[in-house]
Formats: sequence, C-alpha cells, structure tokens
Amino acid sequence: KAETLPQLLRNAAKEYPKHKAIHFMGKELTFKQTFEKASNLAAYLQEIGITKGDRVAVMLPNIPQTVISFYAIMLAGAIVVPVNPLYKEREIEFILNDSGAKAIITLDILYNRVKSVQEMTSVEQILVTSISEFLPFPKNLFYPFIQKKEYGYIPSVKHEGNTHLLKNIWSLPTADLKEVSIDFEEDLAIIQYTGGTTGFPKGVMLTHQNLVANTSMCRQWLYKLEKGKEKLLAIMPLFHVYGMMTVLVLSVMEIYQMILLPKFDATTALKTIEKQKPTVFPGAPTIYIGLLNHPDINKYDLSSIDAAISGSAPLPKEIIDRFEEKTGGKLVEGYGLTEASPVTHVNFVWDHEIVKGSIGVPWPGTDAAVFSPETGEELPHGEIGELAVKGPQVMKGYWNNPDETELVLKDGWLYTGDLCYMDERGYFYIVDRKKDTIIASGFNIYPREVEEVLYEHPAVQEAAVVGVKDSYRGETVKAFIVLKEGAQTSEDELNKYMRERIASFKVPRIYEFRKELPKSAIGKILRRELKENGTEEGR
Ligand code: ATP
Repeated sequence: KAETLPQLLRNAAKEYPKHKAIHFMGKELTFKQTFEKASNLAAYLQEIGITKGDRVAVMLPNIPQTVISFYAIMLAGAIVVPVNPLYKEREIEFILNDSGAKAIITLDILYNRVKSVQEMTSVEQILVTSISEFLPFPKNLFYPFIQKKEYGYIPSVKHEGNTHLLKNIWSLPTADLKEVSIDFEEDLAIIQYTGGTTGFPKGVMLTHQNLVANTSMCRQWLYKLEKGKEKLLAIMPLFHVYGMMTVLVLSVMEIYQMILLPKFDATTALKTIEKQKPTVFPGAPTIYIGLLNHPDINKYDLSSIDAAISGSAPLPKEIIDRFEEKTGGKLVEGYGLTEASPVTHVNFVWDHEIVKGSIGVPWPGTDAAVFSPETGEELPHGEIGELAVKGPQVMKGYWNNPDETELVLKDGWLYTGDLCYMDERGYFYIVDRKKDTIIASGFNIYPREVEEVLYEHPAVQEAAVVGVKDSYRGETVKAFIVLKEGAQTSEDELNKYMRERIASFKVPRIYEFRKELPKSAIGKILRRELKENGTEEGR
C-alpha cells in the first residue's frame, strides 16, 4: 500500500506505540512519543505560516530533534531541505536561497551562523532547539559543528520576532494539526543537495514514492531481519539521503530502533555498539576503517552486528575481511547516488556469493545498463562505459534546474556520471567517476585503481589519487597519503612498490603525506579539494 512518510510514522505510533523509536545518549522515545512531538511541531509550523509545498530547512546533526523535525515538516505538508551543520555561511546561504526555504530549524550552537546569513536569504523564521537538552553535553561530539569563534559558547537565543525558541521541543503544547493531503507519487518529501564532490551542489527532488520505494527494496534485500526487532546504528548523517533512507525511513517502516550519534567518533561508536547492541550498521568506508584502526578495538564486543552496508565510495577488500572477523556479521559494498534516493546496487548479504570489489547487482525493481560515452550505444558485458539506472527511486529532477536535469535524465534512464562495467553474471564494478579520470600523455588513468594498490601497502591508512596539471604530460598522477599510526615509508619506497605492481604510466609522480584528508559529510574523500591544491611540479 502506498503510504507517505508521515503516514508511516502515524501507523507505527498506532500499531507499536510502546516500541522504542529513538535512543540518544541514554534518552529514549517511543514511536508514540516521536509521533506526538512531530505532530505538535507540525501544528506549530502551520501556526507560523508554513503551508503545503513550502520548503523548510533543517540544519541539525543526528539528534532526536532531527527525526522529529523531518517528520513534522512533512506532516505539515512541507518539504524538508537538509543542510549539513558543518557548512559555513556561504554554503548555507546558497542552499537556503536555491531552495527558497521559508524557515529553518537549527540548534542554538549553530544559531549565529544561520542568523548572519538570514537577511540574504528567503528565510523568514528561525526555529531554534537547544543543546542544553543534553546537558552535560558531550563536547567532543558537538564541537565539530561549532565554528572556532563560537567554541564553548552557547548563545542565549531570545524568543522574539521571527526567532522561535523551541527550547523544550519535548513539551511543545499539544495543538491541532490540520490534515494536509499529500500525493504519494507527485509530492516532494525532500530536496536533498548533492555532496558537491564534483561541483556546485544541486537540489535533488525526491518524492515520498522515491524514498519509500528505495526503502522497500532495502527491506527486501535484508530479508532475514525481523520486524520490530532490529536496531539501526545511525552514524551516517540523517541530513544525507543515505542516512535518511537507511535509518529514518527504514525505522518507521519496520519498527526498528534508531541509535543516534551526532558525529563519528571511533571510541564513542565502539562503546555504543557494545552497550546498545545495534544489529544493522549502514556506513561508509572511512567509518569502518576508522573503527578497525582504533587501538582498543579488541577490547569491545561488536558481535551484535548482523549486517553492514557500505556505500558512497569504494570499499577496500581487506576492510571487509577485518570487519567480518571482528563482528561475525556481514559487511557488503553497495552503490548509490543522491539522485536515486540513493541506493541502486548492493552485494548479496546472505546466501549468495559476495564479490569483493564489486558493487553487487541492481536491487529488485531497479534496471541498470552501461552506455558508451562516445556513441551512446548500450555496451556488452566487460566493456567500460557510463552506468545508467532506472527505477521508482529515481528523482523527479533537479530543483529549478531543467538544464542539468536534461543532462542526466534521458529516456527514463538516470545517467550516473560513473564509469563501470558488468561481468557475465551481472555483477557491476565501478571504475571511477567520469570526471575524475586522469588523462596523462593520452593515457586514461582511473584514480581508484591506483588507490586500491596503495591501500595494499602495509603503511598506508588512506590514499587519494588525483590528476594535477603538468606542462609535459597534460596531467600527471599525484597521490595523497595518510600513514597508519606509527608506520613509516618514503616516497622512494612507495614508488618502487607501485612500479612493481602497476604500469609505470599509472604510478604516481608526486606523493604528499598528510595527517588527514578532506572529507565530505558522509566521509567521502574530497578529491576535488585535493585537486585544487595540486600544483604543477615533478614529472
Ligand atoms: P556531487 O554529485 O555534487 O559531485 P556527490 O557525488 O558526493 O556530490 P552523492 O550523491 O553523495 O554526491 O554521491 C554519489 C557518488 O558516490 C556516485 O556517483 C559515485 O561516484 C560515488 N559512489 C557511491 N558508492 C560508491 C561505491 N561503492 N564505489 C565507488 N563510488 C561510489
């Protein structure tokens, strides 16, 4: 049956009122309480003038108010515009203006940043929830969201004019929510801005149907999980559609508990897993790598984890082995993009062969094909081309951007911008992003292939390869390396190692050692940022 997202929460509250929906730092909310708080906030939003189709931004890390706000906005018939709480003024201003958001819900520690751009945007109302609801607040988990000048400072936000202090979101007065009819297929649930890994963020329009369809696919895939019994570890941000689908929507559809963590911190995550015993752990490679490299990993019991799905970037093979050995659960690689709500491919979790290095097969109800970027023809298996996907999870288009929409939505296919090939059995392999391909002296080099080899080096914890301008070769290969704690190596040694393993035209000509690499909100290494720093040197 086609149920919109707020309807799913309403059903959950009715049928499973006492089941736990949210766990956050010792606080818990049942499905009934979550629904009540969301509908009270929805009524409040209606009272201050939010009506059907309005955009309301949410700039919050993973805390209970995020879940409540998302559902409240949708209950009021409005559209959620998630904003990364790490964003700086310029980025916030762009998203608020591009989406035409009428209001924003944020946290007191982020208020100054929002307030300082409000005048330049369409935002009329700012709703502020308070960090003091978590006092004493775990500083290490919230500091990353605070800009330096605001460190340790909780502004005293005043409830006046167009600033609404939701100091106690828990006890908003019960109010009558005016029912709004929502069209499952046509109405937007969210406008999700892309990570901007390759350029300026674009607003992806996702309908209720898109998100529900993708979550149902996820549900079918994880067929061994039991309704009402599982617990989801929510480290992936809910302000990205990956976290939204695998946690926020899956939870209300299947009555799973969400265990929220506002940011990834390896020690906190390990302690939380041991204590709260999550069974499902959606993540990204950097998160699994971060956990496995924790010096005390062996002191923790992680055996509650049954299934972990990794997306957003390639998953190094050795990480799968180490993770499975440590937890006894499964870690499988999947693939998706914001434009597809986001998942399209995943490896089999149970009962079938897992092909490491492959993103698996398309989810039930999803079609996938490989097209030649040159001729546009569909390619046979084994040949590299652009991955295109089709299915009910594919976006309606980009918000206010028909030109960009036309470039990626053609004949019912979504062109992903990723190069891939399919093997004879129908497993897909991502080669790289079309835009990241390095062309050095006329040779095509896929950074991912070079990175895979670097990851096999015992001293390397993280590696990112980019093309940098070179007056002789056009572009040349540069590698950014983060070494494992205590490990040592040199440029010469790495160079020798690489030359023994890959063709010399692919071997990095420049190495730069870093303490850490720039990452997006979901832990994706930002090659674009590294590329911008790349200089013309060496050959
Ligand atoms: P933008 O589109 O603005 O550049 P972004 O690409 O980071 O930002 P997302 O939609 O979050 O936005 O990321 C989708 C991309 O992530 C895919 O197109 C693909 O390049 C990459 N990706 C996802 N899963 C995998 C995977 N398993 N292996 C390799 N790449 C992956």
